Amino acid sequence: MKKILTITTLLTTAIFAQLNVATTYNYLGKVTKRIGGDLVKVDVLASPELDPHFITPKPSLIGKLRREDLLIINGGQLEIGWVPPLLRSANNSKIQNGGSGFLDVSRAVTLMDKPANVSRSMGDVHPGGNPHFATNIDNIVPIAELISMKLSQLDPSNQATYNKNFEQFKGKMEELSSKLKKEYASCQGKKVVQYHELFNYAMAFYGMDKVGNIEPLPGISPSSKHTLELINTMKEQKVTTILQDVYHEKKTANFIASKTGATVKIVPHDVGAVEGTDTLEEFYTTIGKELCQ
Ligand SMILES: [Zn+2]
Repeated sequence: MKKILTITTLLTTAIFAQLNVATTYNYLGKVTKRIGGDLVKVDVLASPELDPHFITPKPSLIGKLRREDLLIINGGQLEIGWVPPLLRSANNSKIQNGGSGFLDVSRAVTLMDKPANVSRSMGDVHPGGNPHFATNIDNIVPIAELISMKLSQLDPSNQATYNKNFEQFKGKMEELSSKLKKEYASCQGKKVVQYHELFNYAMAFYGMDKVGNIEPLPGISPSSKHTLELINTMKEQKVTTILQDVYHEKKTANFIASKTGATVKIVPHDVGAVEGTDTLEEFYTTIGKELCQ
C-alpha cells in the first residue's frame, strides 16, 4: 500500500512539476506568467521601485537562483553590475550564461542609441546601447515569443499551451498598441525632457521629440552647469513636460520645473513601479497617459 502511494505521489509530482523561473525584472515575470500560467513558478529578483542598474546582490537571491530551471534577463548590459556575482555564487550550471536555462530577451529587439565611441570612463552606463526597450509596448510581443519558445524547449510536453497563451497575449498587446497609438496621436512631435534615458523607446513609439536628459550622461548625476543649459534649452524650445522615474532624486526636476513652468510626470520604468501599474496593460496605458496628456 505504502509503495502504491509513493508511486502515485511520484507520478503526481511529475505531471504537475512546475518550471522554476527567475526573472530579473517584474515586467519579465508578468510576461512569463502570462505565457506559462500554472506551469511556471516565477521569482522576480529586482523590486520595481528600485534602480534597475544597481540591485544589491542579496544572499536570499542566491538561494533562489540555486533552485531555478530558467533565468530570464533583460540584457543589453542592464544587469551587468549585479547578476554575474549572483550567478557565480549560486553555482547552478543550468542558468549560467550559455546554459539551457538562460535567456537574454534583448536578442528579440533592436537596441537604440548605440554609441559610436564607447568609453566607460565617461561614465556612460549604456556602452552597448539603450537597454530600456520594455517601455515600448511593441517590443513586448517579440520578447514574449522568445520566452514562449524557451519554455517549450525546456518543457516540450506543454508546448501547445505555451503557444496558445502566446497567441492570446499577442492579440491583446497588439490591440492595446493600436488603441494607444490612436488615442495619443496628437503626442507626435511633443518635446520632452527626462531624467535618465528610460523612456526613449516609449517616445519613439509615440513619435515624440527628446530634447534632453537631466543627467549629463546616462548614470552621471546632474551638474549645475548642465542643469542651467537644460533650463535655457527648454525655454527656447518651449518644453512643458519632464519625465521623472521613481528611484532618482526629484529635487533637480522640481527645480527645473520651477524655472521653466514645465510639469514633472512620474513615469513607471517597470511594471509595478508606480501604483496602479500591476499589469502589463496598466503599465503601458500609464506610460502613454503620463507622456502624452
Ligand atoms: Zn539605464
